Amino acid sequence: MAAVPIHDPTRAPLADARRETCDTTCYMCACRCGIRVHLRDGEVRYIEGNPDHPLNQGVICAKGSSGIMKQYSPARLTQPLRRKPGSERGDGQFEPIGWDEALRLLEDRLRRIRATDPKQFALFTGRDQMQALTGLFARQFGTPNYAAHGGFCSVNMAAGMIYTIGGSFWEFGGPDLDRAKLFVMLGTAEDHHSNPMKIALSKFKRGGGRFISINPVRTGYSAIADEWVPIKPGTDGALLLALIHEIIKLGLYDREFLARYTNAGQLVNQDAASDQFGMMLRNAEGDVVNPLRPANFLWWDRLSQQAVADHADGADPALLGHFKLADGTPAVPAFQLLHERVKAYTPEWAEGITGIPAATIRRLAHEMGITARDQKIELPIAWTDCWGQRHASVKGNPVAFHAMRGLAAHSNGFQTVRSLAILMSLLGTIDRPGGFRHKAPYPRAVPPNARPPKGPEAVKPDTPLNGAPLGWPESPDDLFVDADGGPVRIDKGFSWEHPLSAHGLMHNVITNAWRGDPYRIDTLLIFMANMAWNSTMNTSEVRKMLNDKGDDGEYKIPFLVVCDAFQSEMTAYADLVLPDTSYLERHDCMSMLDRPISEFDGPVDAVRVPVLPPTGQCRPFQEVLVELASRLGFPAFVQADGTRKYRDYPDFIVNYETAPGSGIGFLAGWRGKGGEKSMRGEPNPRQWEMYAQNNCVFHHMMPPEHQYMRNWNQGYMAWAQSVGLRRDNDPIVIHIYSEFLQSFRLAAQGRRGGKKPPAHLRQRIETYFDPLPFHYAPLEAQATDLAQFPLNAVTQRPMAMYHSWDSQNAWLRQIHTHNYLFVNPAVARAAGIDDGGWMWVESAWGKVRCLCRYSEAVEPGTVWTWNAIGKAPGAWGLSDDANESQRGFLLNHLISDELPGAAGRVSNSDPITGQAAWYDVRVRIRAADAGEPAQTWPQFAGVPAAPGTAAAPRWRAFFAGREGKQ
Ligand code: SF4
Repeated sequence: MAAVPIHDPTRAPLADARRETCDTTCYMCACRCGIRVHLRDGEVRYIEGNPDHPLNQGVICAKGSSGIMKQYSPARLTQPLRRKPGSERGDGQFEPIGWDEALRLLEDRLRRIRATDPKQFALFTGRDQMQALTGLFARQFGTPNYAAHGGFCSVNMAAGMIYTIGGSFWEFGGPDLDRAKLFVMLGTAEDHHSNPMKIALSKFKRGGGRFISINPVRTGYSAIADEWVPIKPGTDGALLLALIHEIIKLGLYDREFLARYTNAGQLVNQDAASDQFGMMLRNAEGDVVNPLRPANFLWWDRLSQQAVADHADGADPALLGHFKLADGTPAVPAFQLLHERVKAYTPEWAEGITGIPAATIRRLAHEMGITARDQKIELPIAWTDCWGQRHASVKGNPVAFHAMRGLAAHSNGFQTVRSLAILMSLLGTIDRPGGFRHKAPYPRAVPPNARPPKGPEAVKPDTPLNGAPLGWPESPDDLFVDADGGPVRIDKGFSWEHPLSAHGLMHNVITNAWRGDPYRIDTLLIFMANMAWNSTMNTSEVRKMLNDKGDDGEYKIPFLVVCDAFQSEMTAYADLVLPDTSYLERHDCMSMLDRPISEFDGPVDAVRVPVLPPTGQCRPFQEVLVELASRLGFPAFVQADGTRKYRDYPDFIVNYETAPGSGIGFLAGWRGKGGEKSMRGEPNPRQWEMYAQNNCVFHHMMPPEHQYMRNWNQGYMAWAQSVGLRRDNDPIVIHIYSEFLQSFRLAAQGRRGGKKPPAHLRQRIETYFDPLPFHYAPLEAQATDLAQFPLNAVTQRPMAMYHSWDSQNAWLRQIHTHNYLFVNPAVARAAGIDDGGWMWVESAWGKVRCLCRYSEAVEPGTVWTWNAIGKAPGAWGLSDDANESQRGFLLNHLISDELPGAAGRVSNSDPITGQAAWYDVRVRIRAADAGEPAQTWPQFAGVPAAPGTAAAPRWRAFFAGREGKQ
């Protein structure tokens, strides 16, 4: 029988069809574009970009327009599920239960844990956009065992930049391509800031800007670069240091900018016998500016040839030279130390590490330097700096950079990103036109004010933590360790192993909890993170850990709760599955308290509003958290008499304030009783409605004099403080030299009072906590026989899929159903591997059989593939023989979450921040034997469809192209 379309979208709609158009915010990736959803008779028919949205201006990508297939995906979970008694984790045997029972079960368990030892409950979340709420929930619960995905994403990018310039890329800042003349992109695939970056790049190129991409692979944005500079993974630090070497050697740094706005001129104690060695010298009589962050530093004044208070009227700090204070203390400006540090980092030195010819490095440095120096921008915008100097204009040096996980996801990433931030600062491009510009709520103090808890005593039964679970340590005394220097968090965050782990280490949680190191936990709640597959570094072993039992017959991680909208590989291991809604079925906010979508010209936040009712029994995770917090009586969620404060999540968002009467809540727009105030004001009962009427977005446009030089802009600081974006209004001086890092090194050397690292970590702290940037080989490379494993292996996200989210999407599957390993043809031929042939990739940790694809667009020392296209059989609503599991593969099987360390093993992470070192793995390749199965390896047993899935409407097949051809 011929297939007949149930609905033909190309025909005129039926006269009586009910048509609606609703604005909301996309969540097919983390970019948060505005979308316009067209519905017919209550079903989604079409999704387009919202032309009135400031972020994407109507642009939509393949993922965004395919949201319809996500909404009606057969992988949707639609009811709460409990693992069937007697079945094993991983078997995917579930029985439906009602929400009443699911919530009662959770409530009872969490109440017991909270009343005894709150850290026995761990909450870790994936790429969600509600960390302000999940963090608040953990804090109110009283558990420090909380983090989102940042530790295995790009915390090195955030921390390396924020500890240097007080801001970072993507949500918190980016390249000003409207005015830049030269744009240099490093280690970025087509992912973060996707549509806005495409729009900006298109305009930039049409305007004659020059675009250089530095990346091992030429894909995505790099494909339209004017110049592709191939580089070996994990060596960007060497390139950046060589560029700094050249810029200094050629005198192409912006001296005026460095002297006034960075700590380049601040004097550093060089008395090797002093316990203050390497710390900034202080002026005892000087103005501390802010007692919470004393800034009474010294300059060596070139005019009077003596030490003076920094920013003293009429003084001009020496940046180079060696000096002696009146009391005989030897001192040097921080810039002198940088100058000495990079002397050995010549282009020839970098060539041997990066594979980039020295002449190219010289040319790049020269081009950056002269573009910054000779094509200056001057805007007629008067402003006053924090030291009271009035400036008639805003100046800019039009060289802009953008970088992401390619730099971050290495165990040397923090120092690499510090090198980038310092290069940008030398060129004088921070928060200036044509360079890098901040986005609210940044810039923030270096480091920001939030500190992690300081010791085990911070965790008390039935008591909220007295601060956020995550923060920014300023010195060893801010570490979250016990009396022996041991970790208090389950992921060992903020311990001596990874002191500046500002985003936690989600990739450590399952291994540590399974091993009971530092202790066992009772309940692990995972929200939208695929920890049994692509979000874990040691996939096969982690799957065993999730299913492993102790001698008592109990699972080593006793209770596992997974909240997700889809049947992923992870849900099969859950004891309790909570079905989340789709992004089209719920309220959400992209909050100023979290990661908003701000523009350079002012704060912007946004919301999602439901355009459809929840599918089946799906319930938004936000609602679950508000419900549990209310039932458990968290102080922020109940009245004094114990009755609940908030009816539901929308009510919470409208009425929650950071402190009673603060006027600061999750949303900054349409505050005040009638919506007449912005940024700060009383709760407005009609706030959601007003967002919905305004494209779901609020944009506070700042006056031009507040839009630049915000680290040091008196007017901006006063305003930012008045609306709660900053606690203080002191200047945020760029840290070319980091005395914060030096304080850790002094502790490791036993030259500092307070907390000290345990013996086995002293050398590690002393080595990596260098106050100046330096390059070292990634830890895995240091521990690997590179002759045996000569190649680097990396992944990238494709344009059409966001991590593992989209293999259940019928449209996007037509673009990627399986993945290849891309290999430079010369390398593949030398190994006897055919284009399109089966091959083996082996690391020290595991091996994978996959398909090879020749590619000239990859430097010869690197092989790469798309991330998370490969799937386990049965997951994501796919059949057991789907291409994703038969021809697709996961590179994670080659990666280890741990490396050999001083105490036997250490996390495969950056020793400073704990950033997961995804891209450090070293591999070798060979052809598969002729008789081997044409199938990827390893293979896993399929799991059955969970009850309530596969309920997608039949007309979906029409849109998928499987029905309705006439
Ligand atoms: S870039 Fe991301 S948020 Fe924007 S339309 Fe595409 S999927 Fe949606």
